[in-house]
Amino acid sequence: MIDLLVMDSPFYDSLAATSLGGIAPTSELCEQILTDPTIELLPLLNAAFTVRKAHWGKTVQVHILNNAANGKCPEDCSYCTQAKTSEVDIEEYPMKSAAEILAEAKRAYENGAFRYCMVFSGRGPSKRRADQLAALVRQIKQTYPLEVCVSAGLLDDDKAKVLAEAGLDRLNHNLNTSEEHYAEICTTHTYRDRLETLKAAKRNGLETCSGLIAGMGEPASDLVEIATTLRELDAESIPVNFLLPFEGNDLVEPQGLTPEYCLRVLCMFRFMNPAAEIRCSAGREFHLRSLEVMSLYAANSLFLQGYLNAKGSASNRTYQMISDAGFEIVSEFSAESLVAKAEEESARAAEQPVDIGGANAIKSLEELRPTQ
Ligand code: SF4
Repeated sequence: MIDLLVMDSPFYDSLAATSLGGIAPTSELCEQILTDPTIELLPLLNAAFTVRKAHWGKTVQVHILNNAANGKCPEDCSYCTQAKTSEVDIEEYPMKSAAEILAEAKRAYENGAFRYCMVFSGRGPSKRRADQLAALVRQIKQTYPLEVCVSAGLLDDDKAKVLAEAGLDRLNHNLNTSEEHYAEICTTHTYRDRLETLKAAKRNGLETCSGLIAGMGEPASDLVEIATTLRELDAESIPVNFLLPFEGNDLVEPQGLTPEYCLRVLCMFRFMNPAAEIRCSAGREFHLRSLEVMSLYAANSLFLQGYLNAKGSASNRTYQMISDAGFEIVSEFSAESLVAKAEEESARAAEQPVDIGGANAIKSLEELRPTQ
């Protein structure tokens, strides 16, 4: 146990300095960051900000997700609205056409996205599907100055190689929870399957994006274990999700997620993975509530236009939040023009902000397929 008397300024300074010096905080200290109220939130965030600023300045990378094949997944991940076991009424569809995906890449670029993330439900792609994805990646990279990320389930070396050769920048595959807790949230594949996919991506030269979902009943030590594994994997990108409650999923009730706890999770991941792109992901609006903007002091990235099936804040509100707090959106377009464009889009599409006090909202077909 760290001596509580030392939690003055040198304690927080040393947290930042140790992390910046390439030394991971101990697991014990990481757990304390998550659970010990005598470690105060503001100086903790300030220490995380010191580390974030050294690697990323005040920049914020905005990601837009394309839910490119929705639902009908044979897997049973208990947190997921697309799982075969979920009864959430989502808009299901098979893989979008290449033309639709390209039109949405254009839209993402024009809306200021730094990275375009295509997500395909399912256990993993067939060889034919992997070739299709590679062709799409090639076309997008040739047409728009976007970083491209694909999330397509489990991959082996051959499929990872095909995608890498097509110019894919990054592969997403979340670990979600610790190895010990994994069987509690999914029975159709294992933690090891997921880890092997990430290793295959690395072996084939792809950057990896892998994160977690906090609030699924895991002890704080499990989050520390995931942060440690992602550090060992040298994951370039870490989406930190907070369980969204959907009536009809197997896992409905988020556990232990106060706004303060969510911020502590982000800080701990920053200290453990100082140079990673840490994204405050699903649950940003719902769980951080009035402290949402504080997430940017630890994280340097977020999603715009909601998540796979869940609505998020209106885009203009998110851009305004980033800009009001003095952060810089990484985009070819100015913050003012992005806010103005998002306001126009919002008015046109009657985009509604999430009611953070109420039930979570599912995206409409129009939101999932805006270019149709
Ligand atoms: S494999 Fe992916 S899409 Fe399928 S249920 Fe699990 S998280 Fe959802």
